[in-house]
Amino acid sequence: MTKSKPSNIRVRFAPSPTGYLHLGNLRTALFNYLFARQQGGSLILRLDDTDMERSEEEFIQGIFEDLKFLGIDFDQGPFRQSERRALYEEKLDLLKSKGLVYPCFCSKETIENFRAKAKSQGRAYRYEGTCLSLSSSESQDKVAAGDPYILRFKVGEDNISFHDLVWGEKQFSGSEIGDFALTRSDGSPLYLFTSVVDDGDLKVSHVIRGEDGLSNTPRQLLLWKALGYSIPQTAHLPLILGSDRKLLSKRHGASSLRELRRQGYVKEAILNSLVLLGWAPPEGREVLTLEEMIGLFNLEKVARHAAVMDFEKLNFFNAHYLRTISEKSFLEQALPFVPPAFEAEGLDKKILHLRNNLHRLDELGDWLKVLEVFPDFHHKPWPEELKNQESLSLIQLAIRSLKSESFFEEEAFKVYLKDLQKSSSLKGKKLFMPLRLALTGQEHGPELVKVFQLFDSVALKERFQHAAKYLQQCVG
Ligand code: GLU
Repeated sequence: MTKSKPSNIRVRFAPSPTGYLHLGNLRTALFNYLFARQQGGSLILRLDDTDMERSEEEFIQGIFEDLKFLGIDFDQGPFRQSERRALYEEKLDLLKSKGLVYPCFCSKETIENFRAKAKSQGRAYRYEGTCLSLSSSESQDKVAAGDPYILRFKVGEDNISFHDLVWGEKQFSGSEIGDFALTRSDGSPLYLFTSVVDDGDLKVSHVIRGEDGLSNTPRQLLLWKALGYSIPQTAHLPLILGSDRKLLSKRHGASSLRELRRQGYVKEAILNSLVLLGWAPPEGREVLTLEEMIGLFNLEKVARHAAVMDFEKLNFFNAHYLRTISEKSFLEQALPFVPPAFEAEGLDKKILHLRNNLHRLDELGDWLKVLEVFPDFHHKPWPEELKNQESLSLIQLAIRSLKSESFFEEEAFKVYLKDLQKSSSLKGKKLFMPLRLALTGQEHGPELVKVFQLFDSVALKERFQHAAKYLQQCVG
């Protein structure tokens, strides 16, 4: 149940628009959303687009679209980091005035050499602190001479500890971390810093993000403190793997929402799969609507061990939701799968008739093709046991018994079938299968009444005639 009382809970989803959202990002978005809705809090959308070279408008639009598709809505934002430079400058000045930053003139090559040396000695790299020992006049001279530099934060040697809602107590030593960069050499601020400023400025209470953010947390903690912000709680969500326990990628089936959508998965099934990546509902009840997820989700029960994306379960959810979601949701998601040239009277109704037979929406095109062209019996012949006079007589009867020009209503169809049964003296497979084959060329598919309802009586007659002609050739 969504809490209605006002809440100080404020969370944010902060993707970098350098590509289409990975399912891991969407799981992060979903968990933030569930937590915010459950707590009666606010969800903020922030675009981490300070890396101007790699951020693209197309990806930003992609993010909006993906979130909208899944039904994850926001209370505030989108805030674009690229538009908040003045705020970052102000906060950099604050750190400068506190003597917490210093310019570093070490070239990229120098840093690379340090890094290589650390690696060869089998230790983790940390900045050696070369420029920390420059006197302030030395630094000023270099700046005045136009030497390129970045700004580094003075970390010190103290231990840094925090309690993560998923990982529990974490401790890092300042000496392991080393003085880290806040800006690039062109003066632009880096994510590590901008994220802290935004979280502080927007009064974020909980930072819920992927496990890869865990190693940034001690550095960000120092910045939150140095800037005088209240410190948010953190919850780092476990990695997402494929069935071979390697990081989830395209090769496992799909790694982005776009791919899943293209393959014909409905949003309800995708959301249900996403919510199980790192969290398990109580009592093992796994089929959950978004409303139910909001009620049951528990951030503190998120697992630390990596989560495996289960595509078989996704298929199961998809088949389930294709049958059970509202007609509106089904049609909204199914209509984009109708081939562009396909126009049919009562299209919505026809698609709805097919829903119980679909596992994925991308099968819809094949079904609709059945409506466009006559079955090709030479390519896919009738089963031998039905290629006989009995079937031919049945089809001829079926033609004679057709009445109106329009589509069958359920009741009228029952009467029609009963009459056919009586006059042909056939029942079961011998009755149903030739009718189904004549109309679709397929042995499987929607219930027979629904197959009939795909065509008006003119089309039914044409198909039966086409099948009768084929059977005549077989029999005669
Ligand atoms: N833009 C960062 C990312 O996509 C955000 C990390 C965070 O939530 O702080 O990894």
